[in-house]
Amino acid sequence: MSRPGLEPGDPSPEAGNSGGDPASDPAGDPSGETERRAAELRQLLNSAAHAYYVLDTPVMEDPVYDQLYRELLRLEQAHPALVSLDSPTQRVGGAPAAGFQSVEHRIGLLSLDNAFSIEELEAWYGRLLKVLDREPEPGDGLPALPLVAELKIDGNALALSYEHGLLVRAATRGDGERGEEITANVRTIASVPLRLQLEPPPAWVEVRGEALIPDGTFAAINNEREARGEPLFANPRNACAGTLRQLDPRVVAARRLDFFAYTLHLPDDWEGRPRSQWESLQWLAAAGFRVNPNAELCPDLAAVEAFFARWESGRRTLPYATDGVVVKLDDLRLQADAGFTQKAPRWAIALKYPAEEAPSRLLRLSCQVGRTGVVTPVAEFEPVPLAGTTVSRATLHNADRLVELDLHLGDTIVVRKAGEIIPEVVRVLSALRPPGASPLQLPLTCPECGSALVREEGEAATRCVNSSCPAILRGSLRHWVSKGALDVDGLGSKLIEQLVDRGLVRSIADLYRLDAALLASLERMGSTSAANLTAALEASKAQPWHRQLYGLGIHHVGEVNAKALARAFTSMAALASAAAESPDSLTAVEGIGPTIAESLQQWLATDANQQLLESLEAVGFSLAAGPSELNRDAAAGPAPLAGLTLVLTGTLPNLSRSQAAARIEAAGGKVSGSVSSKTSYVVAGAEAGSKLSKAESLGVPVLDEAGLLALLAEA
Ligand code: NAD
Repeated sequence: MSRPGLEPGDPSPEAGNSGGDPASDPAGDPSGETERRAAELRQLLNSAAHAYYVLDTPVMEDPVYDQLYRELLRLEQAHPALVSLDSPTQRVGGAPAAGFQSVEHRIGLLSLDNAFSIEELEAWYGRLLKVLDREPEPGDGLPALPLVAELKIDGNALALSYEHGLLVRAATRGDGERGEEITANVRTIASVPLRLQLEPPPAWVEVRGEALIPDGTFAAINNEREARGEPLFANPRNACAGTLRQLDPRVVAARRLDFFAYTLHLPDDWEGRPRSQWESLQWLAAAGFRVNPNAELCPDLAAVEAFFARWESGRRTLPYATDGVVVKLDDLRLQADAGFTQKAPRWAIALKYPAEEAPSRLLRLSCQVGRTGVVTPVAEFEPVPLAGTTVSRATLHNADRLVELDLHLGDTIVVRKAGEIIPEVVRVLSALRPPGASPLQLPLTCPECGSALVREEGEAATRCVNSSCPAILRGSLRHWVSKGALDVDGLGSKLIEQLVDRGLVRSIADLYRLDAALLASLERMGSTSAANLTAALEASKAQPWHRQLYGLGIHHVGEVNAKALARAFTSMAALASAAAESPDSLTAVEGIGPTIAESLQQWLATDANQQLLESLEAVGFSLAAGPSELNRDAAAGPAPLAGLTLVLTGTLPNLSRSQAAARIEAAGGKVSGSVSSKTSYVVAGAEAGSKLSKAESLGVPVLDEAGLLALLAEA
């Protein structure tokens, strides 16, 4: 096997990476902890690579493997004594699997170094210029070298050998020097030419490219496997690797693999040898190979960066998986000058798209107390780049999740961005747990006010039930002034914190008692912002009733429910009397179920909340719909059904129960859920039950839908 420019034993010092060694002393002998971590990482990565390359059943996601690999690489670079022969950093890919003949490659098949950011790409380019002795003079810009940008296809590298134009051998990459001979299987791939379209053909040609399974075929294969009760492939790349290793070529043929060629080796004396990577791609296409049409010849690094940015979303429209962009120096002579490290060419780099999952180390548990007193455990971990931002905290939801994840201090955790926005801890790599690590538990007392935390039976949430807990107060204030609620400008979290910490605000109503001079004396406030804030607070008193209701932060009463309730009950007084006297009239409102009704009842039955309502009224809130919010009929004159209580029962022919209730409420009437001698009318539809018989026995007048409409029309 030949490998031009290879320096044996080169420890790959320039592999794309950055950052320091988190667990080490300054360069020199590694600490015991560093040695232990390196040994653990080696062991874990080796067994993951075995599962991945040999068994085709990965035990972790690629980005997680990549990050752990880079951690090991950093440790080894800081402490070269740690580099051992069994380190995964010292070899390419996996060993050839049993079952196929192992063959030596005519020309070695190396891996690629990875870059995970534009900065790392630029650092690679800087190193390349240095190796080529093309570093700029101080003050000069970077010399531009033509580069080819190709999509990094997430498949399996193949080495194809042609002799006198005929395909004679196909092999997997294996460990880079030896791979598995899988010619019979590769012959089934329609896009691999069995004979080159060249006349006369060279004595030999070595072609490298990527075999892949298109997404649609992958889904079909997994569906079939599921139907047969067989384990599913984790991703198209593993499905492709598993397929290439099938002992029966008919199975391979049925799975319709595809192949993109990207590298060409020809005899030195072959006339018309391409002089650049770009020309190689043209040559391959002319010889009959499928070449990915999305490659681009870039005049400089900026063009590569634009290509990378463009394909970040563009690649999602392709029918096969890609995980980055491979950047290659175009000029083959310069490639030869740049040479190779032990594992990879210096003249190429794989720039990967940001990962959606990554590992990190758990540093501590903190707890957030929300406005409803719910305590949310939060994992704080070493900052890690994830899908475009750096994250260092993730919610753990509740105590059950802590137990389920089995988190211990110092654990290596896998973090993901749920919905690409909120980071969450997916699982723990317990093989990397430090010895004697203690399990994480929720505290027994509130981290804010010290009172005992409570977890009701059957509830997932643990709560602080001290209504004067500063965290609950801060949360309620933030909610009250938020956009969907009272929408008060100029009252951010920092200011709220000051107001609560200094005891200036002990309830929402206190906000409306603050005077501008006092506000102006607070940190980062001046007289203008203080005056603006008091004006904004004053103006918020005119916000519609449904916003006031939503702003109270009653559990389960979100913006939509608050609107529905506010429409049906035009004041807090009406809502409170409905909650107390006829809970059915609450559940008659569209979208309001028993849980919300119960939550409202509980909220209203709490003394502290009654005091809050009184004090809000005292500072000028109506806690009721203003004239413009009341519907036209009701606003036009005095409420015509005022003083009347109606009970709805059975199914009306046209109006839903909530529509009927809304019409009655809008006309000033009350809807009650139970019949008593005080009931003015019972409105009965089909299949009316006991309420109808009770009305009859008490002599309460009964109306049908037409009767109700007539009453409303008369009114
Ligand atoms: P790689 O996949 O990061 O990059 C090199 C490969 O890219 C080449 O061998 C080639 O097959 C491919 N490639 C695609 N398009 C190309 C193009 N246009 N030009 C050149 N090459 C192109 O490196 P690798 O050594 O093949 O595999 C290492 C990767 O395998 C790791 O980054 C990791 O994500 C994954 N891995 C995962 C696990 C696991 O447990 N999940 C274990 C081991 C390895």
